[in-house]
Amino acid sequence: MTVKVDKATCTGCAACESACPVEAIKVTDKTEVNEDTCIDCGTCVDECPVQALSL
Ligand code: SF4
Ligand code: SF4
Repeated sequence: MTVKVDKATCTGCAACESACPVEAIKVTDKTEVNEDTCIDCGTCVDECPVQALSL
């Protein structure tokens, strides 16, 4: 299980990148979640202002 990114909804604001406690998210031209690093804590899902992330 890893966080899914709805790339059509994501605005690239990078709030998720700042919120992730293990730096598993990198936002460049699109949002990428490192599946090996992510601990499925759900913090980024709660922080995304446009609900582009889901577990
Ligand atoms: S679920 Fe937690 S660990 Fe995984 S990308 Fe989101 S904030 Fe980071
Ligand atoms: S917080 Fe949401 S909208 Fe902002 S970069 Fe992350 S996934 Fe995209």
